[in-house]
Amino acid sequence: METQIIYGKEVAEWIQEDIRSRFDVFQARTGTVPGLAVVIVGEDPASQMYVKSKAKACIKMGFHSEVLECPETTTTPELLGIIAGLNHRADIHAILVQLPLPAAIDKTTVLDSIDPIKDVDGFLPVSTGRLVRGDYRWAACTPAGVMKIFEYLQYDVSGHEAVIIGRSDIVGKPMALLLMHAHATVTICHSRTRNLSEVARRADILISAMGKPGLVDASFCKEGACVIDIGTVRITPDQAWPELLEPESVWQKSFEKKGYATVGDVKFQQLLGKARYITPVPGGVGPLTITMLLDNTLKAAQLQAGFEEDELHVG
Ligand code: NAP
Repeated sequence: METQIIYGKEVAEWIQEDIRSRFDVFQARTGTVPGLAVVIVGEDPASQMYVKSKAKACIKMGFHSEVLECPETTTTPELLGIIAGLNHRADIHAILVQLPLPAAIDKTTVLDSIDPIKDVDGFLPVSTGRLVRGDYRWAACTPAGVMKIFEYLQYDVSGHEAVIIGRSDIVGKPMALLLMHAHATVTICHSRTRNLSEVARRADILISAMGKPGLVDASFCKEGACVIDIGTVRITPDQAWPELLEPESVWQKSFEKKGYATVGDVKFQQLLGKARYITPVPGGVGPLTITMLLDNTLKAAQLQAGFEEDELHVG
């Protein structure tokens, strides 16, 4: 079977075209520039890199972007004060708190203090509740990006067997809900699931969001499945499986240049020729997460400017 590799950049460009045209209409009608504020606490290099990419993407799209860098010693009340300020600002339509937060901060209280209309990550109980009910305005960026892959491929998930490995609040659960609303038959697996590869092999659509490098091998994949790898982990050469160390591979080049490589949950090379579609790591789902953040920011701005919900292109 010929496997089609789905490159996130290509799908992201397709989504960005749509965002750009909706943004043009929005600006012409309201004169408003969508504004995103990202709050980051501490100096975790990976988080800083993600925040930089988000700000860069925002500016490239012509949106307003602000990054609020807070020291590691920031307290929960101080952070609540910062978010309260952003909640009240008319030029900030979207607020994102970069995770993880330092252990001393009460994460739930902080996230729950974001105004729901600015909750572009979709983490708040009210956002989650709306997603469960199926009347959501937008969904968590990564699962929303995966749904865009299906749209891009014109792959109708309805009636298909979808297996999701991972049940986190930010990836696995919203992914399952989105697929369920799109009429897939959904199974969610986690660390207590028995016979994981056997369950996974039932899937027409296999989505892995574990953060366990290379755990998904060819034995997890039904012939012709659509395999989406959300897992994103940095590994050192001693953790690599043989295919990653081939001289011309992107991973080997990364090991040589940086001392680590970013990999997914899936042993990508083993599934070539078996899966119908597959996303690589890096270069698969990653670019879509940031693009969907722009999409959600525009939707939040539209809503705050009084656009009706049916004008938001939900989904
Ligand atoms: P998480 O909160 O750690 O959740 C991981 C999930 O995987 C949990 O539900 C866990 O089960 C399950 N799991 C762990 N080991 C397992 C095993 N051996 N067998 C079966 N299930 C197992 O992680 P997350 O925030 O959802 O993120 C998951 C991965 O996606 C990470 O690698 C993260 O970096 C990546 N990610 C990528 C993007 C992107 O833009 N590309 C965005 C978000 C996340 P239990 O619930 O039983 O513990």
